[in-house]
Amino acid sequence: MRTSVATHFVQTVPDKLQDGVLYVSMEYATVVHKCLCGCGKEVATPLSPTDWCLTFDGETVSLDPSIGNWSFPCRSHYWIRNNRVVWSGDMPQKLIDAGRARDRQAKAAYYGVRSNEEIGAPHKFELAAGNKKTRLSAGSECKPTLRERLADWIFRMRKLP
Ligand SMILES: [Zn+2]
Repeated sequence: MRTSVATHFVQTVPDKLQDGVLYVSMEYATVVHKCLCGCGKEVATPLSPTDWCLTFDGETVSLDPSIGNWSFPCRSHYWIRNNRVVWSGDMPQKLIDAGRARDRQAKAAYYGVRSNEEIGAPHKFELAAGNKKTRLSAGSECKPTLRERLADWIFRMRKLP
């Protein structure tokens, strides 16, 4: 379990991620890192008014809200505050579900649409978002959330020439 991270500002996320590094892509409005518990799973946190918010003070980075990797076996949960990792306890499934429902409502309100498929999917996302079969986060029985679909999209984009 890490207690601090380094930040790399990149245009596109590299294929091989280093442990303990936050890759921040302003171009794709997303931050990608390997789960800080050490399990090696890749975590993508899209930046948007209804997803995560990145704060850069010139030296260090903070991400809001916390990062809860509920779909990973490790179920790790932490905050990133000024490049430090603040570990949080596990969260009961009920709270996670409530949080996901709140996310969906916030997106529906923000984007003014109801369909999950449409929410937050600007034109360039549509191709990827429509093809659920290539989801990388296998093993999750839940309907893919927007942020999982975005993560899949980002990972697949990285594999394109
Ligand atoms: Zn982990």
